[in-house]
Amino acid sequence: MTFEQMAAIIKKNRPSIDLDLLQLAYEFARDAHEGQVRQSGDPYIHHPMEAAVSLSKIEMDDATLIAAILHDVPEDTDRTIEDIENEFGEEIAGLVAGVTKLGKIKYRGIERYAENLRRMFMAMATDIRVILIKFGDRIHNLKTLKYLPAEKAQRIALESIEIYAPIADRLSMGEIKGQIEDLAFPYAYPDEYQWLIRRISPKRDKRKGMVDSILGDVEKVLKDAGQPVIDVHGRAKHLYSLYKKLLNHNRDISQIYDLAALRIIVPAVSDCYKTLGFLHEAYKPLKGRIKDYIAQPKPNGYQSLHTTCFTKDGGIIEFQIRTPEMHQQAEWGIAAHWHYKNANINRPALKEEKLRWVKQLNKLFEEVEDEKQILESLKLDIFQERIFVFTPDGDVIELPAGSTPVDFAYRIHSDIGDTCCGSKVNTKIQALTTILRNGDVVEIFTDKRRKGPNEDWLNYVKTSQAKHHIRQMVNRKKRTEQEFGNA
Ligand code: MN
Repeated sequence: MTFEQMAAIIKKNRPSIDLDLLQLAYEFARDAHEGQVRQSGDPYIHHPMEAAVSLSKIEMDDATLIAAILHDVPEDTDRTIEDIENEFGEEIAGLVAGVTKLGKIKYRGIERYAENLRRMFMAMATDIRVILIKFGDRIHNLKTLKYLPAEKAQRIALESIEIYAPIADRLSMGEIKGQIEDLAFPYAYPDEYQWLIRRISPKRDKRKGMVDSILGDVEKVLKDAGQPVIDVHGRAKHLYSLYKKLLNHNRDISQIYDLAALRIIVPAVSDCYKTLGFLHEAYKPLKGRIKDYIAQPKPNGYQSLHTTCFTKDGGIIEFQIRTPEMHQQAEWGIAAHWHYKNANINRPALKEEKLRWVKQLNKLFEEVEDEKQILESLKLDIFQERIFVFTPDGDVIELPAGSTPVDFAYRIHSDIGDTCCGSKVNTKIQALTTILRNGDVVEIFTDKRRKGPNEDWLNYVKTSQAKHHIRQMVNRKKRTEQEFGNA
């Protein structure tokens, strides 16, 4: 890939890109990585360029794209974060520093990953764009796994499926999650992958033919009904998600009803329900297969109407009906924030929609000019109501927001809770009533002579675990005292 090729793709995906800055970043990274080659034999600079191209497809902002081009410079070359800050300013340098801090740790299973998770959550809490750059980086690394020794390729693939894909899912980035899983699948579980391919490929062409023919049919049905439609397209089910679904259905492929699916994008929510009606008039729906994820979104915010119908030649197809905003949200998740910020979409119209996510977003964009504040709110949104704090050894402890060192102590062990007498938060002695914040490192002091918890801890602990245990201990102590008094 040449600079011109990269610039052309990015410009197409993000017309407002600052091309001068892009070129500056390219030249800086190219010179820094001079002489380095990838395992594939390509000049190293191809890798960060590919990462930036991936991120431009979800229309990330300039700083993210520039930082993607620079993302391996501090770790792999003699240029430093300071050099980058001098050339490109604080924001871009901050993003690159965030990626660099994540480091490159050998994956040996999720149990031994605490330190890396800690770094990831810290990075996400500081600037969510850091993890998005990691996605761009990871996607290109997955695309070039075939050049690595099998064992190393499998390690990277497993890390991708066990860590990166779930984070993408949590950020509602369905498209990125699907890409990561499908690229990693053949290397993570080669035998299972081969089994699946053999299982589904015989009918693949037939299915494709069916989707194509029904697509034209559906367009005609909706046109005759006078229903405005923005787009109709077939969607291939992601292989890894199909595999996981099969595991839940005794590997019986006839139980999977969404192998063939058609997406119908219509202008507004009311159009979604009307379209559902028109389709049911034309195609007989399967019983119990109508799902209204618009009125009742999935936990990650996914919205659409789903219905499974018989086609006219006796096949089965799933229809997914949604608005463009729901579609964007389902595919891009959190990255859609930047899209809406860049595109001049019709905001008043959106206000009619019952889309919590977009509504919140619009409100934010109306009220807040400063990008930093928007990121701040995104952070709250994602880590809503829970915080991640750390033991001095770097283990991640998840707690509800508002938790105190006492909650932390009980989360470690009830004995630690019962005997705790003081705490250190980020190397400073702090009261046991201190409210912990995301990223705090917490150390607990215990006193073995202590005879159980204080009753007044109940006034400020947040976790039900701590509450329950303290109550139990306090009651037991009272009973013992009574018995002792009666004796
Ligand atoms: Mn990289």
